[in-house]
Amino acid sequence: MQRVASIAAMQRLARQWQRAGKHIGLVPTMGYLHAGHLSLVKRARQAVGKNGVVAVSIYVNPVQFGPKEDFSKYPRDLKRDLKLCRDAGVDVVFVPDDREMYERRGGSLSSPDPRKNLGSTESRPTGFSTYVVEERLSRTMEGAARPTHFRGVTTVVAKLFNLVLPDVAVFGAKDWQQATIIRRMAADLNFPVRILVAPTLRERDGLAMSSRNKYLTGGLRAQATVLWCSIQMARATVKKLKAFPAAGLKTAVKKLVACEPDARLDYVEFFDPDTLLPVSKVKRGAHMALAVFVGKTRLIDNARL
Ligand code: AMP
Repeated sequence: MQRVASIAAMQRLARQWQRAGKHIGLVPTMGYLHAGHLSLVKRARQAVGKNGVVAVSIYVNPVQFGPKEDFSKYPRDLKRDLKLCRDAGVDVVFVPDDREMYERRGGSLSSPDPRKNLGSTESRPTGFSTYVVEERLSRTMEGAARPTHFRGVTTVVAKLFNLVLPDVAVFGAKDWQQATIIRRMAADLNFPVRILVAPTLRERDGLAMSSRNKYLTGGLRAQATVLWCSIQMARATVKKLKAFPAAGLKTAVKKLVACEPDARLDYVEFFDPDTLLPVSKVKRGAHMALAVFVGKTRLIDNARL
């Protein structure tokens, strides 16, 4: 397994693969890998075949974090991640740093904290000033709760597509809105890449695997199952009653979350899985997504009902 940190080396390698006719699969991650990430690696390997190459990027992208979010304390363990990737048969791990990703050669960031230079709407004299913005699907749910988040995601993913030149890129259904936006970005901007979406891997009690679950200490871990319980409750309602008003289901979810002493509902939405447009009557096949603070940790989950 190769470990690549520089953009020049990554692009050189990707071009070599392309010239050799190898199919390239990419799994973008922020590291602190878990079985969910590794299931995407497996899916990428399936897609590119034995002779293809699978690249995993590990990069905590400052631009997708808001000023009050957990960028600096986001869990990191590169040594462990590298071992997991090696064991999973990954060919290349791309681990750039902020300087590589967001600083023009020879330029300098005006502050050591990259979020002070990037991600803000103010124009600052930095080495980076071009963003990719999806303007429709990004407005609701995560986009409404985290206004600059998707701009950071689409920008970094577009950069990764240009650096790794993947034929296939695999994303998790865990971040349904993100995967939908990336699929739209790839289509709108004609990236020659097939976007695959792999199912959400869950713990035994239904909690969706996430690097942020590490924050759930003490009694918070048990309370975090309220996201999965809410999905189950909505699913059971829709199964029994065929169609149910979204407003009523939202109230029921709010009540369920309020039963947990340290949980606070950020949003819950019912929507069409392709357009992400909200539905007023929830039927089978509709999608549900919610964000819940459990203590200080913000968790998200979603599922088809
Ligand atoms: P992250 O490192 O959290 O940015 O996630 C990297 C990729 O892994 C994204 O495409 C996520 O949707 C995906 N992912 C995260 N958690 C899971 C999970 N529990 N099951 C499947 N995929 C996941």
